[in-house]
Amino acid sequence: MRKKSLMVLYTNKCTAQCGHCCVEAGPQRTEKLSPELIKPVLPEFYDYGIRDICFSGGEPLLFIDELEEISEEIKKIGFRQTVMTNAFWANSSAKARQYALRLKSMGIERESLLL
Ligand code: SF4
Repeated sequence: MRKKSLMVLYTNKCTAQCGHCCVEAGPQRTEKLSPELIKPVLPEFYDYGIRDICFSGGEPLLFIDELEEISEEIKKIGFRQTVMTNAFWANSSAKARQYALRLKSMGIERESLLL
């Protein structure tokens, strides 16, 4: 059976504004999803055979509180979860450790860094 995964473009807002960005993300963008929109549809994706969910953007970790809320549901259902980030949060060792611990408690032990 073919492996199915889901990429969620959580927001177009980003700390950076790269010329090559395929979604034209940037600090002025305001579009975003929400826990209220995502949580109700998660069981349908699981029933469809999806087991891996990746949150991307933009910079999804600008909304880490919301991702934490969604991750509770994701863990209950049983998805594996990753996040793509530009690591804006790693500008000091204390802040990097704080974010890494939060990601770990969300069940995310692997981040994809886009630098
Ligand atoms: S860091 Fe990634 S999402 Fe943000 S503007 Fe650059 S390419 Fe786009």
